Amino acid sequence: MEKNRSNGGKRALITGVTGQDGAYLARLLLDKGYQVYGLAARRGSDALWRLRELGADAGVTLLTGDVTDVSSLLRALEQSQPAEFYNLAAQSFVDKSWDLPSVTVQVTGMAVTNVLEAIRCTDPKIRFYQATSSEVFGRVQAGVQDESTPFHPRSPYGVAKAFAHWLTVNYRESHGMHASSGILFNHESPLRGLEFVTRKISVAVARIKLGRQDKLRLGNLDARRDWGFAGDYVEAMWLMLQQDAADDYVIATGRNASVRDFCRIAFAHAGLDYEKYVEVDPAFFRRAEIDAVLGSPAKAKAKLGWSPKTSLEELVAMMVDADLRRLEKGTVS
Ligand code: NDP
Ligand code: GDP
Repeated sequence: MEKNRSNGGKRALITGVTGQDGAYLARLLLDKGYQVYGLAARRGSDALWRLRELGADAGVTLLTGDVTDVSSLLRALEQSQPAEFYNLAAQSFVDKSWDLPSVTVQVTGMAVTNVLEAIRCTDPKIRFYQATSSEVFGRVQAGVQDESTPFHPRSPYGVAKAFAHWLTVNYRESHGMHASSGILFNHESPLRGLEFVTRKISVAVARIKLGRQDKLRLGNLDARRDWGFAGDYVEAMWLMLQQDAADDYVIATGRNASVRDFCRIAFAHAGLDYEKYVEVDPAFFRRAEIDAVLGSPAKAKAKLGWSPKTSLEELVAMMVDADLRRLEKGTVS
């Protein structure tokens, strides 16, 4: 496997390649000349729609596998012989993690053990990226969260991500592996899943604008998130694996906004007043809410030279416009 790296061959294996970040990362790596392999379980009926939207479906070699199945990981590593491994696979929806706690802990947390062991046994020089989350901070102890902020996760998802983070740190410290953990704050795009609040809003705005929906029912409008653009954030993942030494980084914009603010901007972009359409429905309240998060990307800026390029207003416009286009073509996913 060493020969793949030393002869300049750039191969990368991505788990979760059919997800939002998987699609943007695959596009980025293809543009950089990588041979991109993606682990996919082929669960969905149209699992490749995101890759297709970015024109990355043809360039990615799909390997059947699941992070809970270590033999499939070993096979994928043998087939792809990567220099870089990006572990993006997860049950990633916080709210669902209360309904499916065991599944979430297995896939989002425990399975990282499978991934790291498979890498260690195959070729411990493979550079590794773990998709951690600001959900590890949970009930935040500080106004701005950075790499030194203590963890207090508030959901099974957050607990699983805290485990994944510390295991990544442990493999770096115990086995000397180039293993980095990206503590990413919420990042969105037109490829975001429909269950997340931002995409729920952008689709609703488009439907209301086209006269196909009357109201939008949401939960806590006062929750504040530090929302960035997924296309910017995958660049940070790649940069982490290009450093001489592995490390952990907070990736965020340094600005937060409420769900209400997001609604205001999204409806206004379509020439509508959100107050006429948004209704609060307690069914969408969380069992344990995280009221506000705000990340400091200072370390990423200083060490990786990374900073976000897309403003919240640009992100919202991109999402609403994409959903308007899809609805007009009848292709909302
Ligand atoms: P998505 O939910 O869009 O993608 C998750 C991916 O994981 C999908 O491709 C899914 O495949 C795959 N997957 C689920 N279970 C398994 C499994 N058992 N084995 C292999 N693959 C599996 O998430 P995002 O792209 O938004 O996020 C990428 C990663 O970053 C996730 O780990 C997420 O938790 C983390 N993250 C995301 C943030 C965000 O704001 N987007 C913030 C911080 C962290 P399938 O569709 O077939 O189920
Ligand atoms: P999360 O930060 O990973 O949980 O991302 P989400 O997009 O699922 O939720 C962001 C915030 O929006 C949370 O504080 C939710 O409580 C809040 N929220 C308010 N209404 C809704 C809703 O209808 N759906 C979702 N998913 N979240 C909502």
